[in-house]
Amino acid sequence: MSGSFKVKSIIGSRSKRGEISPEDYLMRSKNLIEELKSSTPISIHDFRELKIKYSNACRIYYTAAAISRRKILEEEVRKEFLSLLFTLRKNLEIAIFEDMIKVKNKSSLFKTASGKTFFGVSAKQGVSIRYPLMTCSPTKSCGGRCYAHDGRDRELNLVFRSLFNYYLAFQYQNGSASTREEIIQSLSKSFDYGIKSSKIEMSNAKQQGFIRKPRIRFSHIGDMVFTPDFTNRVAEEIKKRDEDITCVIYTRRKEISKINPTLFKINFTIDSDSDSNLKFATSKCKVVSSAWEGELSEQARVNFLEHHVEKVKKPVNKGIICPVTLNHSLYKSCDEANCDICFN
Ligand code: SF4
Repeated sequence: MSGSFKVKSIIGSRSKRGEISPEDYLMRSKNLIEELKSSTPISIHDFRELKIKYSNACRIYYTAAAISRRKILEEEVRKEFLSLLFTLRKNLEIAIFEDMIKVKNKSSLFKTASGKTFFGVSAKQGVSIRYPLMTCSPTKSCGGRCYAHDGRDRELNLVFRSLFNYYLAFQYQNGSASTREEIIQSLSKSFDYGIKSSKIEMSNAKQQGFIRKPRIRFSHIGDMVFTPDFTNRVAEEIKKRDEDITCVIYTRRKEISKINPTLFKINFTIDSDSDSNLKFATSKCKVVSSAWEGELSEQARVNFLEHHVEKVKKPVNKGIICPVTLNHSLYKSCDEANCDICFN
């Protein structure tokens, strides 16, 4: 990844599980939140130095997230971790971002931010754009359970990637017409890369016997509705280059009406049928549900059964279930499950 270090070279080797005390990391996490909240932004020469400055904080966040996903953990302790993970990550992101906008070497930051890793490409998520969790409007249930705290998305380089993407969006939202054009121009090669990658992915699916359109996910973590002008413009540029690409956005934000429904398939996410956010879903949205604790929604077009490394929740009530979340040991991707409910 452009601008990324090997995580190990910054934060050292991971601690062995036996060396990590959950209680110790609960305390460290709480202290870190207070420290981050009271930190004053400083001007650093280069964004690479920021990675070093925040390496220890990223490590504490990573370890807290990993502990919360352990198969064996006292339920009370798990609950405590789940209740602070979102606040920890959000404050970490805010502190990094406030320093990032003060970085002196802006050209190197801009070059890295607009590089091709603006788009993530992975077997599980396909082609997608990451955003920081500070752009989310979390519910009580989703903040700690969010899949951003699972696997690779909790690592330092990907926390930074989501902030680089947001850095561009922030400059675009607050910039003049010429700044906006400069940002879009700088992303030109990245748009080509994202489109090409999504078409390769589509061809691979076809070879496996599954016919579907190419697609790009807008914020599989974070919420791009937070920066609607930038988000609409990115989709517009992608569509201008290739109108076959389906742009899919996932959101919980009530400002969803600022997103141009002619550019997107919109997946409005709720927690359950009683989720009060449901009133913000417009007629242009497809309602999908997180099904935390396995609670299915009948109103949702599809339910993503809660699944983490340590376990999959058993479904409760009636509703359509996403096949990957139901059988994630069998299907690693939507294509393997021959499913594209979310994208059409
Ligand atoms: S419902 Fe289908 S398209 Fe949506 S995430 Fe699950 S497998 Fe993929």
